Amino acid sequence: MSSAAPSRSATPPTIPSSPREAPTLVLSGPVSVCIDRPLLALDRPFTYDLPEELGAGVGSVVQVPFHGRATRAWVLGPTEDVPDRILGVRKLVSAVRSFDERSLALYRAMSERYVAPLATVIGRAVPPRVASEELAHRAPQPRASGPPAPGPSPLAGYREGPRLLDALGGAGEGAFVVRPAPADEAGVAVACVGATLAAGRTAIVIVPDADPVPATAAAILAAFGDDVALFLGGDKRARYRTWLEIAAGRFRVVVGTRPAVFAPLVDLGLLYVHREGHPQHRDERSPSYHVRDVARMRAEIEGAVSVLGAFCPSLEATAREHVLVEPAGRPWAPVEVVRPGPEGRSPRLLRALRVATRAFVLEPLRGYGVARVCRSCGEPAACAACLGMLRLERGSIRCVVCEAPGRCASCGASDFGIARRGAERVEEWARGVATVPVSLIGRDDPPRAPLEREIVVGGVEALKDVGAPGLDLVAILHADASLRRPGVDARERVLVTWFEAAAWARPDGRVIVQTEGPNDPAIQALVSGRPERFRRAEAPRRAEAGFPVGAPVFRVAGGAELERELEALAPRTLLASSVAGATICLLALDEDRVPGFGAEMRRLAAAGVVTRVEAEPHL
Ligand SMILES: [Zn+2]
Ligand SMILES: [Zn+2]
Repeated sequence: MSSAAPSRSATPPTIPSSPREAPTLVLSGPVSVCIDRPLLALDRPFTYDLPEELGAGVGSVVQVPFHGRATRAWVLGPTEDVPDRILGVRKLVSAVRSFDERSLALYRAMSERYVAPLATVIGRAVPPRVASEELAHRAPQPRASGPPAPGPSPLAGYREGPRLLDALGGAGEGAFVVRPAPADEAGVAVACVGATLAAGRTAIVIVPDADPVPATAAAILAAFGDDVALFLGGDKRARYRTWLEIAAGRFRVVVGTRPAVFAPLVDLGLLYVHREGHPQHRDERSPSYHVRDVARMRAEIEGAVSVLGAFCPSLEATAREHVLVEPAGRPWAPVEVVRPGPEGRSPRLLRALRVATRAFVLEPLRGYGVARVCRSCGEPAACAACLGMLRLERGSIRCVVCEAPGRCASCGASDFGIARRGAERVEEWARGVATVPVSLIGRDDPPRAPLEREIVVGGVEALKDVGAPGLDLVAILHADASLRRPGVDARERVLVTWFEAAAWARPDGRVIVQTEGPNDPAIQALVSGRPERFRRAEAPRRAEAGFPVGAPVFRVAGGAELERELEALAPRTLLASSVAGATICLLALDEDRVPGFGAEMRRLAAAGVVTRVEAEPHL
């Protein structure tokens, strides 16, 4: 491997694209395989002799003898690295090939970037086999329907919109970040897919969650009908069946959650990541990839266009070279900044709620209030079980940490003085001023937009893609508490949700944000509608914390000598701690150091010094 960044070092554009079930190359003789044992210490190719009569090739699932046991493996390709003694591949496990050369190039790039075993990456990218589906599966003919006539595109009026449409329509490539107008969010995605299909290529649209089906996913399904595979949820059997049909060329568009980024489409022209900053776009399990990065890697490998869509693009999305596509004018409602006032109710907000007929109030805190003091003994309130904070929610007091029923840590009593705050309390006082019904959408309620005559109070989890509801009023409460949450990227995540909330207002509606800090860059960004201001303030803050935007971060666990070994790699930042006899190190690297770091981690894993490597941990 060269020392270049992984996304750039993987450059196999010479690989022909071939549908997976078309006659594929049969290999024989020495081949390298990836053993299905997801351990860094074993993360290297092994050579076996492949008999021609098995009919196997790149991506075939085979069985090989490994340390004396029959073990599953994937064929990676022919090899010249042949040891003196070479064992034979025992059998072919499935006639279906799990991947082709292009997909393998992506998996290898991910294995390098996230310092994860190739077997782990393949295990995430290819859904688990359901053998009976393979028997039932007959490769259907690719659909004969012609590309739909592209309708009027909202992108034509956007800055750099024509450039994006040209790249999609002219079989081009490139990295784009799109900041749609609230009313255009679904329309922009539909336009991008339409332009891609019109050029004879295929498209993948990745959405953050499946339930409820995001309005953008529904719009693509409505526009392209039978051409669309929905890869959202479903059981193991249904997912594997859909995957087989996609591999067989049955669909030209795939819409789905994270795993859809690996969908086996050929002639790929577009990877579109919808609401790219959403936390669900990151896989919490190894290789803990972020779908925005994988989409870009795959687009570079396959010569496709990547589009990251968001009302407030993340620092990570904009840190890399890209073309920003956004509306020429301001399609957002004006944002009014007011002080919260007594109990978080500014006079201006109360007046606005009195006349609003359709509104959303974002209250990030749950419940009706928190216990301040024990009424029996006068001590400050704390959970008797764990000293956690006690919250009044739906009529009962419970600990927010351990969920035990609220009992005083000092005397065991359960009568507390309550400081009223939270979504239930907001619902109560909003009801007192509003002239239309007020509803609370709690954590367990299905998210939805407010009805025609309704004010909805809800938390961050209520802010799904429900289309552009065009509300009279959106109010953002407890802005300051949200901005004070811990975490390196907590402020950015808050701003993303504010933009999503503000996008629910009509362009001629109102957005009111209550804050004591009107000069905070996040508030200023919301007011101006320009996230750039926030990013300019935030990037130096992150660099100062030791984790600059775009610098890969790893958490490594291992033995006592781990810190010294990592110091030798000269990372940008290295924080070490000792937990229960293990050493845990958090380090940030320059991107071009990752391949060398990965090679070292694999060596140290084989030597027993490194026990675990996690990429991009939460900070
Ligand atoms: Zn507790
Ligand atoms: Zn007490």
